[in-house]
Amino acid sequence: MFQLEKCNLCGECLVQCQWMDVDLEQAVTWKKLMNAGEYVPGLDLCITCYACNEICPNNAKPFDLIAELQEKYCRFFPEDAIAATEKQYTFTGDLHGLPDTKRVMTTCVFGKDEAALIQGGLYDLPRVGGKPYFCWVLFSHMGVESIQRKHARDLVDRLAKTGAEEVVCFHDDCYAMLARIAPGYGIDVPFRPVHLVEYLVEYVKKNMDRIRPVHMDIAYQRPCASRHTPEKEHFIDELFELVGVRRVERAYDREKALCCAAVKMLLGIGDPAEAQERNIMDAKESGAQAMVYLCPMCRNNLSAAAQKNELPFIFIGDLVRMALGEISPA
Ligand code: SF4
Ligand code: SF4
Repeated sequence: MFQLEKCNLCGECLVQCQWMDVDLEQAVTWKKLMNAGEYVPGLDLCITCYACNEICPNNAKPFDLIAELQEKYCRFFPEDAIAATEKQYTFTGDLHGLPDTKRVMTTCVFGKDEAALIQGGLYDLPRVGGKPYFCWVLFSHMGVESIQRKHARDLVDRLAKTGAEEVVCFHDDCYAMLARIAPGYGIDVPFRPVHLVEYLVEYVKKNMDRIRPVHMDIAYQRPCASRHTPEKEHFIDELFELVGVRRVERAYDREKALCCAAVKMLLGIGDPAEAQERNIMDAKESGAQAMVYLCPMCRNNLSAAAQKNELPFIFIGDLVRMALGEISPA
């Protein structure tokens, strides 16, 4: 939730935005209007990358205000298209076959479509997934944050019904929802959300005798949802060190990460191809032999540019499976 009392109108959230060209004077003017609940053209330029929530030096959560104002003033989609998408993800039945376990993994809606990424002993823990466990973060990318808010409690309640004390989140968005967004809505989350990479670090440490360093220079593609929970970022570096890969220094990483840009296409606010090409070329020119991704959506949306420039993609879990000797780096 945006915290007006923390905003000192420094303008940094808009000046540093990678998706609009705004000088300090314009940024401060727009920010004053936004803080008063008014429309500014920047609302139509925002691609919902969440970066400004991380950029704000006062932790005022400026994106949360942008999301509220986008819903009020910008109509990226017709009402019936939003209603149809909401219906597509809404679960109304009873839950069956709940695991009785202290720790469960939620695969969100990726369990089937991304089954190839969830293979091997690494994922040998009880799982839930599919529509009942959809995290709804998609809707803040569609300019209708209220739908994300509306369904957040149901998601938390369904996961709580597993009785698990810890819920490992396969998808970064689910972790953002459970660790930051739902508590921000005042929802009590009665279990500990565990980020996938925290889980991977723990697994590798328990299996160090099986680990063979991968010896590769990689670029990391940091997804948009990671902006919500930067406190877990140290696990990424820890994991890379444990499996013996070097994260190359590049322009678009860490706080300066460039999101996959697919939302431009989704919202009809321009072609993402130029930004995607720039991102891949930044990785290549920084000496990366491959790009490691956390979010399958990043891979889907950057793969055309990556293929064109012959940069392989590796899922972060598969990096661990390479180090375990389960799959070949080749
Ligand atoms: S929201 Fe944060 S970054 Fe933006 S103007 Fe206010 S204090 Fe500055
Ligand atoms: S969410 Fe991203 S695109 Fe939107 S204003 Fe913030 S930094 Fe810019």
